[in-house]
Amino acid sequence: VKGKAKKAGKLAQKIDTAAVLGAGIMGGGIAYQSASKGTPIVMKDIAQPALELGLGEASKLLATQIKRGRSTPEKMAKVLNNITATLDYAPVKDVDVVVEAVVEHPKVKSMVLAEVEQHVSDDAILTSNTSTISINLLAKSLKKPERFCGMHFFNPVHKMPLVEVIRGEHSSEETVASVVAYASKMGKTPIVVNDCPGFFVNRVLFPYFAGFSGLLADGADFVAIDKVMEKQFGWPMGPAYLLDVVGIDTGHHAQAVMAEGFPDRMGKNGKDAIDIMFEADRFGQKNSKGFYAYS
Ligand code: NAD
Repeated sequence: VKGKAKKAGKLAQKIDTAAVLGAGIMGGGIAYQSASKGTPIVMKDIAQPALELGLGEASKLLATQIKRGRSTPEKMAKVLNNITATLDYAPVKDVDVVVEAVVEHPKVKSMVLAEVEQHVSDDAILTSNTSTISINLLAKSLKKPERFCGMHFFNPVHKMPLVEVIRGEHSSEETVASVVAYASKMGKTPIVVNDCPGFFVNRVLFPYFAGFSGLLADGADFVAIDKVMEKQFGWPMGPAYLLDVVGIDTGHHAQAVMAEGFPDRMGKNGKDAIDIMFEADRFGQKNSKGFYAYS
């Protein structure tokens, strides 16, 4: 493994500057993480209020760090100075890597990737933070698919250590190695996975959620299940609470992708707990009602 890591390190091109497209929950988190670990980042969105929200999130995280004695106002200013918020592509032209983090729609993502490819240098690497869309499909919109791969962060970005680096059929070894190196520079733990429905994490997570839904269908109580998983089994949260944190709408969409990708293993007969919650508009913490109620 050491030898492999050394070889990957040699292949990696230097990432000194980055850009993130989309200043939402993920884009804002990615900008904060990159900037605070010393890689200046351009954060581009199509709406000024979205940019302000992204910057506001970064400021909030920094203020918490100061409160906890882990940072100073000087460091905070330096990190914020590392984030350039923009509505146009001009500041993106010299960056080494781009992380696309716009809405989860194949057409929008394909359009944005094709658009940004026209504005960056020939050496720039493009990545997508998609949770469920095939990297091979998105690569079709690009002139240089070898310089593209997935870079899948988890929410909240500043807390979650894992980053899935998704290798598409055309992604070059240099591209993958460079993105692995950038994720490490951001203080994250990258793993390289091949392109497939659910990548790695969702292939583990969704069979677990299916088991949870099956228990509910058999009459089990979700609070009791969470309690056992948290208190007795020792996981940080049980499945009901985890779904509330992830967002049940997001879970519902990902579950459909898994069912389509693995019909034998992940196909369903009828509605399960995730469908029922979704249809009842109970999306979890994001709209204050999921398995649990939030005020
Ligand atoms: P979000 O809705 O919070 O933010 C999306 C942002 O993209 C918005 O600010 C919107 O204005 C912007 N946008 C839309 N079109 C754009 C364009 N053409 N150019 C630039 N910006 C544009 O979404 P999010 O939750 O941050 O998710 C973003 C991506 O990250 C999605 O692909 C999602 O699947 C993925 N993801 C989300 C999570 C999560 O838990 N939220 C976790 C991992 C990955």
